[in-house]
Amino acid sequence: MTLPIVAVAVPRNVDQTFDYVVPANLAGQVKVGQRVLVDFGKEKLEGFITVLKEKSDYKGSLRPIRSLLDSESILNEHDLELARWIADYYLTPIGMVLRIIAPHRELSIREGRSIQFVHLAQGLKQTLEAIEKISKRAPQQAALLKTLLTVESVTDKELLERVGCGPRVLQQLVEQKIVTLEQKPVQRNISDFYEAPRTVQLNAEQNTAICAIERGMGKEAQRFLLHGINGSGKTEVYLHIAQHALEQGKQAIVLVPEISLTPQLLARFRHRFGERIAVYHSGLTESEKSRQWDRIKRGEAQIAIGVRSAIFAPFDKLGLIIVDEEHESTYKQEEPAPRYHLREVALRRAQLENATVILGSGTPSLETYYYAQTGAYQLLEMKTRVAGTASPAVQIIELGDEKVWISLLLREKITDRLRKSEQVILLLNRLGYAFAICKECKQVVRCPTCGIALTLHIRFQHLSCRYCGYDLKLPKCRNCGSANLSFWGAGTERIELELRKMFGTATIRRMDSESVQRGQHGVILEEFRQGKIQILLGTQMIGLGLDFPNVTLVGVISADTILDLPDFRAGERTFQLISQAGGRAGRGEKGGEVIIQTRHPEHYAIQLAAHQDYRKFYEQEIEFRREFNYPPFSQLIELIVQDSKEETAHQHTLTLQEGLSKLGNIELIGAAKALPYRWHGAYRWKFLLKSKDATVKENLRLLIRDLKFADRVTLNVDPQL
Ligand code: ADP
Ligand code: ZN
Ligand code: ZN
Repeated sequence: MTLPIVAVAVPRNVDQTFDYVVPANLAGQVKVGQRVLVDFGKEKLEGFITVLKEKSDYKGSLRPIRSLLDSESILNEHDLELARWIADYYLTPIGMVLRIIAPHRELSIREGRSIQFVHLAQGLKQTLEAIEKISKRAPQQAALLKTLLTVESVTDKELLERVGCGPRVLQQLVEQKIVTLEQKPVQRNISDFYEAPRTVQLNAEQNTAICAIERGMGKEAQRFLLHGINGSGKTEVYLHIAQHALEQGKQAIVLVPEISLTPQLLARFRHRFGERIAVYHSGLTESEKSRQWDRIKRGEAQIAIGVRSAIFAPFDKLGLIIVDEEHESTYKQEEPAPRYHLREVALRRAQLENATVILGSGTPSLETYYYAQTGAYQLLEMKTRVAGTASPAVQIIELGDEKVWISLLLREKITDRLRKSEQVILLLNRLGYAFAICKECKQVVRCPTCGIALTLHIRFQHLSCRYCGYDLKLPKCRNCGSANLSFWGAGTERIELELRKMFGTATIRRMDSESVQRGQHGVILEEFRQGKIQILLGTQMIGLGLDFPNVTLVGVISADTILDLPDFRAGERTFQLISQAGGRAGRGEKGGEVIIQTRHPEHYAIQLAAHQDYRKFYEQEIEFRREFNYPPFSQLIELIVQDSKEETAHQHTLTLQEGLSKLGNIELIGAAKALPYRWHGAYRWKFLLKSKDATVKENLRLLIRDLKFADRVTLNVDPQL
């Protein structure tokens, strides 16, 4: 029997699906999990069929589907179930969830035709010259080249779409030999990182962990927390277990916080598994994702490694999911919705498909460790560094004068290492931005629209807003007009400048999201590994999983968490930062040293991290969480309501406040102006909900669904504050 009606989930912030009629020419072809093109208001949208049905409850007349985008369903039962769970847990319309699960797949790929990639035929310099030469005569060709410069890999179709020009433009560039076309789909090697393969003899702790996990695998879904200090050899454990899964005919997913920052892990997996790996990283274009999808579907790849979308790899015999550095806050997707935490989705997917999960970390998140204590996860510990490397000596230095960011001691140590041709890593808390304070009226120079402190860009001698880009060219106080400002906080840029003054002849490289383009991290790390860089300065992220024997000094410029907002994870993040630093030093035979600079040398997070006492830190921190009712003892939900008119936004906020205050069993914080208050042309207010009661979410969902302005409310479950 062919059913004439389909329910379609569209990627819009509306908490329902919409019914459409199947036109006669498509009768019998529609299936759940296919993508369709539909009219939605005045828009044309791509949605997913979620239900086939005989009749609709909708009173008006239904519109027909415009076209069917897939000949087969691209989602299976598990995909749909996982999508429903994400939608429910993160209070997100299912249409917005589905669009992230299946990649946008070009029909041509599925039909098996080859796809064509466009590359620059010449180096950067020649290309720039070519752009200049043709920009008057052939502006479209120039535009295409400029776009090509900004992407890592792109198909002809995608490129033409982005530039908005016809194939003739591309053809002309090919004829002039400025670009080339490549027919065969090849897997791009995203990391140039090379490391000689090593074989190791597993030690006792590694063996114990491996045995415990292998024993559990294949039975019902098992969850492990592998708490192994930095350098204890967790990656070897992962490799072993992945091998085991493959031998059992199963497939594996390995999640890392950012693949270009963890080149060593990727390199080790490549050595072991070669082309059986599908790599997902955040810079992948849609067609590259599709290619990985195809390789997995065809059975070429059995291990998916990467961030984000790797968790949705279309394996049908998934046996293992590894979440490395499970505590990393970058695992939380913030924008756009669904605002999911990769770890939670991993746990859920594993449960649905009966797979084993390993959460690995040297400094587990408080939540995860708590669940390991209560027995929800099985705790495996690796407490010693692998043979041959001693833990580094840690020294805490109190910073006094707020003008000095590099203490005398740190300076001496750096000088010493430079003389010995050893290498130095300097870490900065990523929240440490430099901002300006007026010496006359003592006001912080803030953005007039967003209300946050403006950040200093020394090189250009101006202040600008991180949120909206507001730019103050000749910095002066916006309150009293004085140009007599003092600059506070240590941005990476500022520290870089200070370092250059101190160590003029050394090769210094800054690595943070501002100075380094996406995908370039691997190149810098490779230069560092080869010894071409002596001092590497960066935010916490550069420390992840790096293992360089010539690094004998790691300095934490400032361990103090400077926050605009009170953050209940401040202590945890400080502990993690310092532990990471310790893990990076002295990986080789030369040993290593860690210097922590802080204005709060007595703080327990700093003290306990310096002594590598995670357990004690956990015990103290979990009491704080319990006392103030923070996760894991409650769930936090952030709500933002916005409107392009300030008055309307405020009205909605009051309406929402009234509704929320009637929900039982919650602690309501706010409303307060959101940060930034003005964002993409809208005025925004924020609420924070704290609750112990799981049913609150459903009531909240109903409350919001019935609001007239429901589409202007965004929800963030388990936010990173
Ligand atoms: P972690 O991820 O726990 O910080 P790694 O897995 O990166 O630690 O291991 C640290 C270093 O020790 C790596 O260079 C790795 O090759 C090496 N290693 C791991 N296990 C052993 C072992 N059993 N014997 C010798 N070296 C080992
Ligand atoms: Zn601003
Ligand atoms: Zn002033």
